[in-house]
Amino acid sequence: MTNNPFFGPWNTPFELPPFDRLRPEHFPPAFDRGMQEHIGEIERIASSSEPANFANTIEGLERSGRLLRRVGRVFNNLTSSVTNPEFDAIDRDYAPKLAAHRSRIMLDAGLFARIGALWRKRDELDLAPDQRRLLERHHLNFVRAGALLNPARKARMSEISERLASLHTLFGQNVLHDEDEWRLVLDERDLAGLPDFARAAAAEAAKARGLDGKYAITLARASVEPFLTFSARRDLRRAAYQAWAARGTHPGERDNRPLIREIMVLRAEQARLLGYDSFAAYRLDDTMAKTPEAAQALLREVWEPAKHKAADERAELATMARADGLNEPIAPWDWRDYAEKVRQAKYAIDEAAVKPYFVLDNIVQAAFDTARRLFDLRFVERRDCPVYHPDLRAYEVRDASDRPIGLFLHDNFARPGKHSGAWMSSYREQEALDGEVLPIVVNNNNFSKGDPTLLSFDDAHTLFHEFGHGLHGLLSRVRYPSQAGTAVRRDFVEFPSQVFEHWLEVPETLRRYARHYRTGDPLPEELLQKLLAARTFNQGFATIEYTACAMLDLDLHSSAGRRELDVDAFEKEFVAKIGMPPEIGLRHRPAHFGHLFAGGGYAAGYYAYLWAEVLDADGFAAFVENGDPFDPALSARLKAIYSAGDTMDPMQLYRAFRGRDPEVAPLLNKRGLAT
Ligand SMILES: [Zn+2]
Repeated sequence: MTNNPFFGPWNTPFELPPFDRLRPEHFPPAFDRGMQEHIGEIERIASSSEPANFANTIEGLERSGRLLRRVGRVFNNLTSSVTNPEFDAIDRDYAPKLAAHRSRIMLDAGLFARIGALWRKRDELDLAPDQRRLLERHHLNFVRAGALLNPARKARMSEISERLASLHTLFGQNVLHDEDEWRLVLDERDLAGLPDFARAAAAEAAKARGLDGKYAITLARASVEPFLTFSARRDLRRAAYQAWAARGTHPGERDNRPLIREIMVLRAEQARLLGYDSFAAYRLDDTMAKTPEAAQALLREVWEPAKHKAADERAELATMARADGLNEPIAPWDWRDYAEKVRQAKYAIDEAAVKPYFVLDNIVQAAFDTARRLFDLRFVERRDCPVYHPDLRAYEVRDASDRPIGLFLHDNFARPGKHSGAWMSSYREQEALDGEVLPIVVNNNNFSKGDPTLLSFDDAHTLFHEFGHGLHGLLSRVRYPSQAGTAVRRDFVEFPSQVFEHWLEVPETLRRYARHYRTGDPLPEELLQKLLAARTFNQGFATIEYTACAMLDLDLHSSAGRRELDVDAFEKEFVAKIGMPPEIGLRHRPAHFGHLFAGGGYAAGYYAYLWAEVLDADGFAAFVENGDPFDPALSARLKAIYSAGDTMDPMQLYRAFRGRDPEVAPLLNKRGLAT
C-alpha cells in the first residue's frame, strides 16, 4: 500500500497524526512492518560482534521499535476515543500478535545476555544517574517478563501473555457494548426531579441516537449518575442502577465472568512461574508499596473510619427518606438521591444551582491558568491541526520564554464509540536521545455536551485530575523515551494528577473562573464557602465504594487462581466478609472492572489511587502550611517531580519536594475520616 500515511512523513503541526487521511485498513500493514523492523533492530543488537556497552545495547534498545510505537499509540488512542467495528476487529486480531511480539523480545536470550552482562558490572560503567536507573529498569523488566526461565517455561509465559491480551481486549469491548446498547428512553413526563442540565444532556443523548424529541439516559457515568441523583422516579432510578450494575454480567457471548475466571488462572500461573506466591505479590514487588500487605494496611486504615462515617450518613439519609414517605430501607439506587437532598438541607447547596457556575470552557481556562501560575506555561489554541472528531481541541503549550514544549489535545465529550471514564494518553512522548522530541498529550473526558456545557464540581475535579496527568507528560524533561512523563511506578503516577486537583479548590481559582453561564456573575461567596465546607460530605460513601474495590482487587489477586472461581459467589462472600454496607454498591463490580481486566495495568493496583492520595494530601499541605498556594519555591520543587519522569526513585523525588517522608494524617482530614 503506497499511500499508507504510516510509511511517509507527517507534515502536520507537531507531526500530529494526519487523522483526516488515516483509515482502519492502514493499521494492519503498519503494525506488520513495525514489528518486522523492530525484530530486525533487536537482532542486530543481540547478534552484534562488539562487546555489549551502554550505547550499543541500552541506547540501542531505546532507539528500537519507533514505527511500531507510533502505530500502536495512534491505534490505542483511536480505539479508546472513536472506535468502530473495523477497529475492534483489528484490535482482536492484533492484541495477541503484539503480545507475542513483546514476548519474543523480552525472552530473547542473546539480548538478555548482553543486558545481564552490563547490569553485573553497572558499578564500573561510569553511568549518569538516569542511565544507571535505565539499565536497572531494563534488566528488571526482562527478569519480570521471564528472561531467567528455561525455554519450556519461557514458551509457556509467552503463550499466556498472548491469551491474556485477547481476553483483556474482549473484556473491554464487552463493557463498551453493554454501555452503548442500553438506554432508558423517556418522555417529558418521566423527567420529574431532573434539573435543566440533566434534561438538556438527556435530550442531546437521545438526538445523538436518532431519537429526536425524546430523552435518553445512558450508562455513561456522566449520564446515569445525575439521573440517580435527581430523578424523583424511584422505579426508573432502580432500573437505571440495576442496568449500570449489570454491565458485563449478561449471560451469552458478551458475558465477562468466564473471561475473569480464565484471566485469574493465567495470571496466577505467570506469577508462580516467576517464583511468586500470587499475582498480587508479583505485581506489588515493583511498586512504591512493595508488598500487598503494605497496600492492605493503608486500605484498612481508612476502612473502619469510613464505615463509621457512612453509617452516620445513612442515618441522615434514612431520616430524610422517611420524611419523604419512603418506608423501606435505603437502597443503592436511593443513596445518591437522598444524599443530594440532605446536602441541600444541611449545606443549602443545590447541585443544580452550582452547575451553572461551572462552564466547561471556563474550567479549562482555570486549569491552564493554574499551570501558568505554578509552572510558567501558556496554552495557545491551534486551529490548523487535523482532528479525528470535530469536538477535539488542540493547544500549543509554551514555556516562560515562549518556546513550544508540546501539544495538548482536549477531547471532552461523551459519545457512542468512546470508552467511558476519563484518561490521559500520548500520541508521542517527550525524549531527547537524538535531538529534542516534543510530547503530544491528550486528555479524554466524558462530559455530557450542552450549550454551553456545564460541569458538576466533581466533573471539574476530573478535568483537573486528567490535566495533572497531562502536565506530567508535557513537562517531561528526560533523555530516554522509556523514562518519559508518566512512565513511573503505578502507585506514584496518580500523585501529579491528584495533587493538581487541589488547585481547583483554591478560593481564588473559584472566584475567578466559576462564573454563571448566563449572567457572568461569580459564584456567590456564600455558595463558594458552603461548597468548600461540604467537601467532606458523603466521603463515607465515596471512601467505601472505592476502598471496597481496592480490597477486592488485592484479595482476588492474592488467591492462587482457583480454576472453579465463581465470580458472583466470590463477590458475595467478599462483601459479606468486609462488612460492606448493603445500601452502598461497589464502584466497579468485577464484570465491568476495566481497571483490572480490560488490561493488566491496574490489576492488583487499584489501591494506587489511595496510596497516591496520601502523597497528594500531604503534598498540598505544604502549600497550606506555607500560606501561599502558588509559592514560587514550592512550585519549582513540585515542577521537578513533573519533569523527572522515571529518572529517579519516586520516594526520593517526593522527599526532595517535601523535605520529609509522607504522612497519612492529611488524607484522613481531607476525607473527614479523622477521629
Ligand atoms: Zn488518574
